[in-house]
Amino acid sequence: MYPIPQYCLYCSSKVIYTSNAAMYGKEYGNGKCYKCTSCDAYVGVHDGSKIPLGRLANRQLRQLKKQCHHLFDPIWKKKKRLRSYAYEKLSELLNISIKECYFG
Ligand SMILES: [Zn+2]
Repeated sequence: MYPIPQYCLYCSSKVIYTSNAAMYGKEYGNGKCYKCTSCDAYVGVHDGSKIPLGRLANRQLRQLKKQCHHLFDPIWKKKKRLRSYAYEKLSELLNISIKECYFG
């Protein structure tokens, strides 16, 4: 679980807990996020909590995460494997713990 971000990883500016309407035009999903006060980095929160979904991400990282899901998700969906099984295999291949193995 990621800690609540206080300062931006990219530009060191203050990070605030706020509405995500600034990014999406209107509130999207649960409507909240942590956002850098200077650059475009942000991260959403788990529903009904202030727990961040992952690390703060700038535009480039958000695109890379989408690309990873685009490549990874069909593997377990097409083979009808459990998602958790696919993440377990990925963590073995990357030689990292299963707790660290997610794209967020
Ligand atoms: Zn920033």
